Amino acid sequence: MKKEILGICFDDLSRQEAVQAGAALLSEDKFHYVVTPNPEFILAAEKDGEFRRVLNEADLVLADGVGVVYSAKIQGTPLKGRVPGIEFAADMLSCLNETGGRLYLLGAKPGVAEEAGRRILERCPNITLCGTQDGYFKDDEAVLLKVAAARPDLLFVCLGAPKQEKWMARWGKHTGARLAIGLGGALDVFAGRVERAPESWQKLGLEWAYRLAKEPRRAGRMAKLPLVLVKAAGRRIKRS
Ligand code: UDP
Repeated sequence: MKKEILGICFDDLSRQEAVQAGAALLSEDKFHYVVTPNPEFILAAEKDGEFRRVLNEADLVLADGVGVVYSAKIQGTPLKGRVPGIEFAADMLSCLNETGGRLYLLGAKPGVAEEAGRRILERCPNITLCGTQDGYFKDDEAVLLKVAAARPDLLFVCLGAPKQEKWMARWGKHTGARLAIGLGGALDVFAGRVERAPESWQKLGLEWAYRLAKEPRRAGRMAKLPLVLVKAAGRRIKRS
């Protein structure tokens, strides 16, 4: 079931349900893409109609951050919980490992996707890493041809938002992949270049605070987040 939160229609799924839905998409012989919006996406999509359309046309729209879950609650349309993109990605890797499928990693700085791939294969030895490409390319079509030639089943697209979502919507169906997922900085995490918050912080919904403490340069980006909560409150007041 979809729930609209400040213009974005989220799938109201638990992590377990999201895994089942993702596995079903991965088993179908056609292209699908998944997006993992956080509050920054919601604000950007307000001003960028193409971004909003591309998010709403995705096969799965997962609530990546606790900010989305709070906004949903404040707005009066609560979600079952958050489904962090990085966890959904790890679950899809486990599914792919079961079938021995092919994985392509697109994005991040040169060398990061290779290192991420090496570490993923240590945990999922049945996966074939069929290609990697850094995210600082100029020629979309050349990269598309490279990805398609590698014949991936699962494609991680980690170019930052909204670039990665627009790339998947524009080029995804030509890659031959069954499932593409837009995952922001996930390759940096898989490569061990960026640490996730400890589980205790994640459980408290404080992953953002941990990240801010580790990377204070994100303060400008994160300062916008309370605005989403205020907008959600505004929506609720208007409706009542
Ligand atoms: N990135 C990229 N190409 C670009 C811009 C960014 O590959 O043109 C990568 C960047 O190296 C990083 C990821 O995209 O690995 C985006 O990280 P960001 O911090 O924006 O995403 P978040 O961590 O918030 O999901």
